[in-house]
Amino acid sequence: MPGLRPLSIAIVGAGMGGLATAAALRCVGIDVMVYEQASQFARIGAGIQIGCNAMKVLRKLGLEQRLRAQSFYPRSWNNRDWRTGEVKFDMIFGESAEDKFGAPYLLAHRGDLHAALASAVPPEYVRLNYKLTGLEEGAYGVHLRFANGEIATADAVIGADGVHSLVREILFGTSPVNFTGRIAYRTTYPAALLNGHKIDDCTKWWGEDRHIVIYYVKPDRSEVYFVTSQPEPDFRIESWSAKGNVKELRAAFEGFDSQVTNVLDACTDVHKWAIVDRNALSRWADGNVTLLGDACHPMTPYMAQGAAMAIEDAAVLSRCLEGIERDGIANAFRRFEATRRERTARVQETSRTNTWLRQRTDADWVYAYDAWTTPLAA
Ligand SMILES: Cc1cc2nc3c(=O)[nH]c(=O)nc-3n(C[C@H](O)[C@H](O)[C@H](O)COP(=O)(O)OP(=O)(O)OC[C@H]3O[C@@H](n4cnc5c(N)ncnc54)[C@H](O)[C@@H]3O)c2cc1C
Repeated sequence: MPGLRPLSIAIVGAGMGGLATAAALRCVGIDVMVYEQASQFARIGAGIQIGCNAMKVLRKLGLEQRLRAQSFYPRSWNNRDWRTGEVKFDMIFGESAEDKFGAPYLLAHRGDLHAALASAVPPEYVRLNYKLTGLEEGAYGVHLRFANGEIATADAVIGADGVHSLVREILFGTSPVNFTGRIAYRTTYPAALLNGHKIDDCTKWWGEDRHIVIYYVKPDRSEVYFVTSQPEPDFRIESWSAKGNVKELRAAFEGFDSQVTNVLDACTDVHKWAIVDRNALSRWADGNVTLLGDACHPMTPYMAQGAAMAIEDAAVLSRCLEGIERDGIANAFRRFEATRRERTARVQETSRTNTWLRQRTDADWVYAYDAWTTPLAA
């Protein structure tokens, strides 16, 4: 009988968006199960900027203290010329931004953020080794098929399965990602390898056709991260298993400020990643199935907002679904999409231009947003 049992929702993908959504839905009494293709969660060498807008969501999921204790609290995101070091725009974070935007701006190890999100979802609600292979909506629910031979049924499905989302393909057909012709090298390593060379809290060094962003990811400055962007049109691999050549990387940033060369000289190992995005989709949901995060709005990393958008999605989706019965799910999904589409499309488009904070920028529309209070679409 309607109303007597909680909704059951299957979430495909235990990335940033899937886990945040599971945690947020559990807060409003919805029964979730997360299905993840990977057999384990690994702490892969990358940093992640957690914008104030994402931190507001994470606070309500109970993760603020843990993330503050594990992450770096930068005074600013500074933007400097690659060669002269001239400051183009210093976006001040720290306490003044925390007061203004209502939450801190943190720099974390990606693995620490992922582990924090995983800690908000009891392990019995996450199934590893479940690679989705098919999905059908029937009269009594949505049926999911997995590569391990298992099947499952839920009232609704959320595809949080990343940029190459199978759920998106099933709903709306295949469409290739947009390869930007650029690649990112990235890695984390112990700051002790810098042999006493100092680096600033967080700096984006802007070159002519390339840049590098360098920051700490631990509160005691014990771990350093960098991520680059430079042209390499023929490289098309997006996988944590793809490694880059450190010598080629150093050569690509020759002539940059000594902070950059010191950081690259100390680095022994890098991941190499093709940078992709997509145009905004016209629809995210169909019936009782919706997309979320990179599955529907993947973006270039130049605003450091991809995961933040997925985390905001989680909060808004939980608000749309709160108190809804099974026959109201499709409408709740359309409401979610209507509430989120304009903002995520704007971030996708802005990110693509790679101009964020390059000069004095009005950043309020990104960081002041509160996914818990933003008005829901009618
Ligand atoms: C170089 C770089 C730097 C970045 N820096 C930042 C940053 O500083 N700040 C920020 O906010 N964002 C950043 N991002 C963006 C961020 O990483 C993504 O936007 C974010 O990870 C998206 O989360 P998601 O949950 O939608 O997808 P993902 O994190 O990709 O998770 C998708 C999950 O689904 C699983 N999956 C896929 N297919 C299946 C299947 N068929 N069955 C079951 N499971 C499946 C995957 O294994 C994965 O666990 C960066 C991205 C890049 C490339």
